[in-house]
Amino acid sequence: MKKNYEDILEEVSEDKAVAEILEKLGGEVSTIFDRAASTKCCPIGSGISGICCKNCSMGPCRVREGKTGLCGATLETIAARNFARHIAAGAAAHSDHGRDLAHLLGLVAEGKAPGLEIKDELKLMKFAGNLGIEIADRDIKEIAKEASEKALSSIGQQLGEVNLIKMAPEKRQEVWRKNNVVPRGVDREIVEVMHRTHIGVDQDAEHIMDQAVRCAIGDGWGGSMIATEISDILFNTPTAVRAKANLGMLKDDEVNLVIHGHEPTLSEIIVELSSDDELIEYAKSKGSKGINVVGICCTANEVLMRQGVSPIGNFLSQEIAIATGAIELMVVDIQCIMQALGKLTESYHTKLITTSPKAKITGALHMEFKDSNGPELAREIIKMAIDNFPNRKRKTYIPNVTAGLVAGFSHEYIKYMLGGRFRESFRPLNDAIIDGRIQGAVAVVGCNNARHCHDKYHNFLTRELIKRDCLVVLTGCAAISTAKCGLMDPEALKYAGEGLRSVCEAVGMPPILHLGSCVDNSRILTVLSEVVQEGGLGEDISDLPVAGIAPEWMSEKALSIGTYVAASGVYTVFGGEPIPVESSSEVKEIMTTGWQKKYGGQLEYISDIEELLDKVLSVIQEKRKALKIDTKKERVLLDMEARRALKNV
Ligand code: SF4
Ligand code: SF4
Repeated sequence: MKKNYEDILEEVSEDKAVAEILEKLGGEVSTIFDRAASTKCCPIGSGISGICCKNCSMGPCRVREGKTGLCGATLETIAARNFARHIAAGAAAHSDHGRDLAHLLGLVAEGKAPGLEIKDELKLMKFAGNLGIEIADRDIKEIAKEASEKALSSIGQQLGEVNLIKMAPEKRQEVWRKNNVVPRGVDREIVEVMHRTHIGVDQDAEHIMDQAVRCAIGDGWGGSMIATEISDILFNTPTAVRAKANLGMLKDDEVNLVIHGHEPTLSEIIVELSSDDELIEYAKSKGSKGINVVGICCTANEVLMRQGVSPIGNFLSQEIAIATGAIELMVVDIQCIMQALGKLTESYHTKLITTSPKAKITGALHMEFKDSNGPELAREIIKMAIDNFPNRKRKTYIPNVTAGLVAGFSHEYIKYMLGGRFRESFRPLNDAIIDGRIQGAVAVVGCNNARHCHDKYHNFLTRELIKRDCLVVLTGCAAISTAKCGLMDPEALKYAGEGLRSVCEAVGMPPILHLGSCVDNSRILTVLSEVVQEGGLGEDISDLPVAGIAPEWMSEKALSIGTYVAASGVYTVFGGEPIPVESSSEVKEIMTTGWQKKYGGQLEYISDIEELLDKVLSVIQEKRKALKIDTKKERVLLDMEARRALKNV
């Protein structure tokens, strides 16, 4: 890319460190930013260009308005089928992650997973309770073993209702029952999506979309929820933690080891072992001052939330990190790992290691993680990184760009932060929303997308929302984006509107809360359910003045997340282009007015970012109006009796 720093910042990436490196590379090394400039999107699927079906070998059929595929499939049917298949893939990614953790919990209970233990027994008790497990005075390992078995069978459940939907408000469960979208088990729903979208099966667009919704709910309230709960049980429920973000956290005089992907298991062990005296001495013997473990993408979020490890970048930063020439080793597991890394590492001394039995990359060395070999494998990987330190081929280039941040906001910690140790509660948040100091809460989540300026939309929306007294919660690459630009620094409170700032100052809470990885969007569902349960803001999630935004989304997982959030009653909006269902106005209608009627939430696409912001703010005001809290009220301090009365409203 032959552009100067200012132009890159304006058009390509808002991340100053990324812009600095792109300018320095000057197009000599191909990155995703160069490929996005030279490779245009396929126009099929965007508006007038029609849509493409390749579900059988009589196709691919390109279908425009008024035409059909060879089998007679209409534009609506194909749009719904394609969308449903994206959801199935996204739900599969999250739920397979959840399945592995459920299996791991059983191994930990049996003492068969060296280096791992149950770290949060209280969370295990709650999780077991939600799975309907008898706790009484049973041994913790016995409970963990049964929780593992129940979680696994819940993912593969064939009939009935998946048990964790009971964590949703009663009214929400009734909405799902009425519309026949309560998932049986996420595996079954994924299989059914694939079956129904095979040639010649389900051909009614709305009926196909209903199954897509059932599958997505199976992800959010099933697979993803299980992944988050068990990660907390095994690695600890996050609490507030300070750290620093961006590429400036790489160290010129230390061994830099990057963990990248989505799974916390091996990464947690690597982080813990990196402070081992013997390994540090070994690093010193190779001329390094120490071992610096940092993260990218959601593995970064997992180890940031629990151990304060620095996230140096999000999805679009992964190649740029290698181009610093300062990374000895990048260890990857699953999801969002660019295949281009294999080729790129040939130009640098960086070793690329794949560890998941599910993912190999050409050009990478595969060292398989097997649950039973955690500490042994982690040690081998760290040693390999140390051995590679003297092999740096060229002078490193580490941009001096960092930003302070506070992360670690599990729903348990938010409650504690709001109410204190002995009175932890969402009450102060509900009260602040009711009296209008906080107008509402907005989740800004999701990926980066090389078709848009890197990080720009996340940061713009987050800034604008807090300015307008909306509490912002973030996950995934959106969270890393905000952290990198300094908005998660406690100092950023000065950008918040007066009302939000006064609440944050009173309870000691930042206006922007990092809730974790993409799988941890399930934490948002838990927070919403608890806010409803706290009382005073309606009886269901769909009554709350909240919204969800994925402004730079790109992955199929994001579509599954957006769908389960909408089906949980939240107005959800995706930014950017192309829009996956753009060619079918009928399917767009199903996802907006149709889902609004059925679920009280919808999934809309708005590519203009200012329009998107206005729409979110107007939805929040509509919800406030419906709750009759749209006029400014004086703060009333409630005693316990009054609070109980509110809960029963
Ligand atoms: S399923 Fe129908 S529309 Fe799709 S490729 Fe086959 S013939 Fe064409
Ligand atoms: S937010 Fe998107 S790009 Fe980032 S790690 Fe998650 S799925 Fe991947």
